[in-house]
Amino acid sequence: TVRTRFAPSPTGLLHIGNARAALFNFLYARHHGGQFLLRIEDTDRERSTQKAVDVIFAGLKWMGITADAEPVFQSTRMERHKEVALQLLEAGKAYKCFCTPEELKQMREQAMAEGRPPRYNGMWRDRDPSEAPPGTPYAVRIKADHAGETVIEDLVQGEVRVANAELDDMIILRSDGTPTYQHAVVVDDHDMDITHVIRGDDHLTNTFRQLMIYRAMGWDQPRFAHLPLIHGPDGAKLSKRHGAQSVVEFRDEGYLPEALCNYLLRLGWGHGDAEILSREEQIKLFDLDGVGRSPSRMDYTKLTHVNAVYLREADDERLTNDVMERLTGREGVDTGPVTRERVLKLMPGLKERARTLVELADSAAFLGRQVPLIFDAKAQKHLTPEARAMLGELARALAVVDPFSTGQIDAALRQFAETHGHKLGQVAQPLRAALTGTTTSPGIDATVAALGRDEVLSRIGALRN
Ligand code: GLU
Repeated sequence: TVRTRFAPSPTGLLHIGNARAALFNFLYARHHGGQFLLRIEDTDRERSTQKAVDVIFAGLKWMGITADAEPVFQSTRMERHKEVALQLLEAGKAYKCFCTPEELKQMREQAMAEGRPPRYNGMWRDRDPSEAPPGTPYAVRIKADHAGETVIEDLVQGEVRVANAELDDMIILRSDGTPTYQHAVVVDDHDMDITHVIRGDDHLTNTFRQLMIYRAMGWDQPRFAHLPLIHGPDGAKLSKRHGAQSVVEFRDEGYLPEALCNYLLRLGWGHGDAEILSREEQIKLFDLDGVGRSPSRMDYTKLTHVNAVYLREADDERLTNDVMERLTGREGVDTGPVTRERVLKLMPGLKERARTLVELADSAAFLGRQVPLIFDAKAQKHLTPEARAMLGELARALAVVDPFSTGQIDAALRQFAETHGHKLGQVAQPLRAALTGTTTSPGIDATVAALGRDEVLSRIGALRN
């Protein structure tokens, strides 16, 4: 059965490139009825704080990506990594390297001077360890095979090959007894029975090096799929100046997780024309043969469009909860239960007009404002002395609407307009300005109903002052 894994290093943020790799691993496993596992590569103890780990857990949870087993913490497996390194040593597939830091430095400098990539020169490969003075610290290096070439049948990139002469005897166990990254990844992927390694193509060179360890141990190799990276809209490496990059930033900017997932999936993976796919459809349709080979360009406008689609479909209670959270602490906005009630009531209209949760919260803020409202320039234009006088009369009509429902309010407004010889808009626009402080809101009847009679009368009444 298929077993995939997401193996992030806790860096303090969950980059969307990594988030997409997680999604692809998850969908691939689900599609094939397999398992998706999580491994936290926390061997860098300084960076791997609990907080940095929590960022990953929270990000995955938010995106609805769930692992099929408890996460594996790489740092807890050091003894096992060491054991495998010693096994290789024993079998003569690895050797002790007693090089001093100075010797290594010289090697690097010489290579640089000669314009070669800095590579270990193999000075201890065939030397007898007894030649080293007793007690000299040593690292364990893999005995790389320098003949022939290594070929990967990558499930995305196709056939990729490298001449083995390019690969040097890399360290698998440092002189302080800690395993290197390359070594730990291989031992863990093997022990976790990973069948498919799906990760960014920045790991392609690592794969060639990691294969040395599989071969040396005589282990079955997993299949590999190296995903093209996500670039910015201009084709350059995605960076801060392009916009949000981490999952938390997208959340803060008001994207729904299902919209972000849908967008990240479609970015570089296609299935016909289908743009909006539910998680069930994603699982049903996803496979690696639909992943393109060229880098994808992040298109924030398109993401916003996808988000708007999901926003309209989203549950009103859920959106209201999110909006209330975003409004909390905003100056001059009450976020108590009364406001919440109003936001919930107006949500069907509000969500039609917003593209992000930030826009949604902004458009809902007026519901929690207290009189006197602040009027924007356009709203002020509508509030002429004549309009204020008219609104005073309208208040008397609204005072007796019963029940205070959208239908009854609509009827009352139409009747008021007709008896005063106005078009409906001539009544609705000043009223909207008076109630919201702006000139945009959902339908006027829904807006009035959501505020409730008392608040409507109080907001109109405040115009007199
Ligand atoms: N820990 C590595 C990273 O965050 C990924 C390792 C892998 O997927 O093999 O880049």
